[in-house]
Amino acid sequence: MNLSTPVKYLKGVGPARALVLEAKGILTVEDLVAYAPFRYEDRTNVKPISQLAPGEMATVIATVQSAELAGFKRRQLGMFEAVFTDSSRHALAAKWFHAAYLADLLLPGRRAALYGKVEWDSYSGGLSMMHPEFELLPEGEEEGDASLHVGRMVPIYEAAGKITTRVFRKLLHTALQALPPAPDPLPGTVLARLKLMDYWTAVRRLHFPPPEDDLRLLNEFRSPAQFRMIFEEFFWLECGLSLKRSAARRETGIAFELTGRAREQIKRMLPFKPTGAQKRVLGDIARDMAAPHPMNRLLQGDVGSGKTLVAAQAAVIAIESGYQVAVLAPTEILASQHLYYLKRLFEPLNYRVVLVTGSTPAREKKELKSLVSAGGAQIVIGTHAVLEEDVEFHKLGLAIVDEQHRFGVMQRLRFMRKGVRPDVLVMTATPIPRTLALTLYGDLDVSLLDELPPGRKPIITKHVDDEQVELVYSFLKQQVDRGRQAYVVYPVIEESETAALKAARKMHKHLSETVFPGLPVGLLHGRLPPDQKEAVMESFKRGELKILVSTTVIEVGVDVANATIMVIEQAERYGLAQLHQLRGRVGRGADQSYCVLVTEKLTPGARDRMRTLVESCDGFHIAEMDLKLRGPGEFFGTRQSGLPALRIANLVRDMEILELARSEAMSFVAAPPSEEEYRRAVAYLRNHWQRRYGLVEVA
Ligand code: ADP
Ligand code: MG
Repeated sequence: MNLSTPVKYLKGVGPARALVLEAKGILTVEDLVAYAPFRYEDRTNVKPISQLAPGEMATVIATVQSAELAGFKRRQLGMFEAVFTDSSRHALAAKWFHAAYLADLLLPGRRAALYGKVEWDSYSGGLSMMHPEFELLPEGEEEGDASLHVGRMVPIYEAAGKITTRVFRKLLHTALQALPPAPDPLPGTVLARLKLMDYWTAVRRLHFPPPEDDLRLLNEFRSPAQFRMIFEEFFWLECGLSLKRSAARRETGIAFELTGRAREQIKRMLPFKPTGAQKRVLGDIARDMAAPHPMNRLLQGDVGSGKTLVAAQAAVIAIESGYQVAVLAPTEILASQHLYYLKRLFEPLNYRVVLVTGSTPAREKKELKSLVSAGGAQIVIGTHAVLEEDVEFHKLGLAIVDEQHRFGVMQRLRFMRKGVRPDVLVMTATPIPRTLALTLYGDLDVSLLDELPPGRKPIITKHVDDEQVELVYSFLKQQVDRGRQAYVVYPVIEESETAALKAARKMHKHLSETVFPGLPVGLLHGRLPPDQKEAVMESFKRGELKILVSTTVIEVGVDVANATIMVIEQAERYGLAQLHQLRGRVGRGADQSYCVLVTEKLTPGARDRMRTLVESCDGFHIAEMDLKLRGPGEFFGTRQSGLPALRIANLVRDMEILELARSEAMSFVAAPPSEEEYRRAVAYLRNHWQRRYGLVEVA
């Protein structure tokens, strides 16, 4: 047997278990060995009940003497209590709340290992454990086996179907005993420099830590064995990404010229002096564009940091070199907002800007498409789907992908494969830690807009309960009397546009008829025809409308400096990123701006989100909190988002190890210590990459 032996040949794995394991991605012995425990228990301290002392953590092996589902069943507390005895003839009570189901498991006569804190129960005058961890011990268990589960540092695995933590323990024990040593997959130079534990010791200690291992470190995933395994997982990931990137860099792309005329045109277009960060980032972009390889750059910047302006400058460079520019937006609303902004920006340059989306009428679309394919439009804005599938360009040179907080890496790839490789600039308003971004976007270089345009004041954010909404209205009135304008928003969650629309209409009626009968209150929503939408936005911009009631239409792109109040209704229903985006619609002028989060039903999670927003206006901090509160899976969406499938490593918890692995991988790929080590690494990656990380092939 070796690491690549199919797991179904392992003793103890029949066809049924093999299927369950396969569903978990465990096909080979190597996969099984990589299935790390998510927690450990110190069961070294196994004691007879007679020797237990209150206050200690201990493991007891005992038999259920009696069991009952106690008292207050009607209040559904369902407290289950079992009394255990062992060979010392002493008794120990164990209690679990909300655990009626245990009555079927802990039947009198069953033997179990209990692990928990020993307490003195003054009520019964005996020893007890509250909510101990327990594991049933089957009758007639072989002697040797029992020692896997008690009397040691015991690994706890996530169960898979009928494969319990116990079964995993046994399977891993069998596998590790049968495996002959093999060469360590990590390059020897890396192992030596970082003094990492070797693979064989590490996998053994990962599953069966020696008694002297520190339980706290183990449960924080920082034992030397875990460190090594986490490092290894990141190391190969980063090596693969690095190889991909260098392959992409060798591809031929367009070498744009930054001519004097292009510079002049940029100057003519710019409505204001770029910030230092904008200049720096444009420098990165111009350098990429001038190089004869395709640009793959990610532009990260908080909401309002001026990304669009930078993208527009890049567009001028492309257009002045005789190329077309595509702007891809995730939604039609965003696409039309880009149209609005860019049209005005490019007016002095006489560029033709067109919009093609799914809802463009067929005849118009046909005309637009032939205009684009003949090169008659310099800038084509549209939704991802339409531009990727449907439009032939005359000479596409630059694609600007506005991803907001989406991660459509796959989409990007498909787009780039069409015809000649254009330069690609991806903009995102979800600032995430740099290393994480580099990993998620693998083959992208990253630029950061870390400076807001001058004169911006931090927005004051308050959280109020729905019942105090009258206070919010009087504050609104006061501000409007001072000449300010306000948004009142019902954000749309996917699929619930109808509900949001209903709420917005009701609120519009309420505000315009009852609360502010004297004030002009507008209503904006996604179902309005485009020209009406534009009319409403225009009249708000001109200051004729004082209050704009809206669904998420204004989430991004709307830009009215005099609007200083953002009221978000039912704020508990939305994620941090969306709320932060919405808030970013105010605070764009010199006056103090406010954001009021109104909630109806607060869950603990929503309370955390509101607190985060009240405390901070920093998109980075908010994104980090979001990542922490929701976990990487939810934060980034699922597999198709391009997130690598990781086994032991965790992108949030193990950020510093990721950084270390990344720098090691980069220097390894850039300057391999020897031809031989490099070839071995590439071969290892080819064999493991796709299955291990669920990502598209390495180049
Ligand atoms: P983002 O897309 O990053 O959220 P925008 O590009 O929409 O930000 O810019 C936000 C606002 O700031 C817009 O009104 C834009 O015109 C303005 N702006 C951008 N750059 C500057 C600058 N250098 N000085 C002043 N205002 C700027
Ligand atoms: Mg923008």
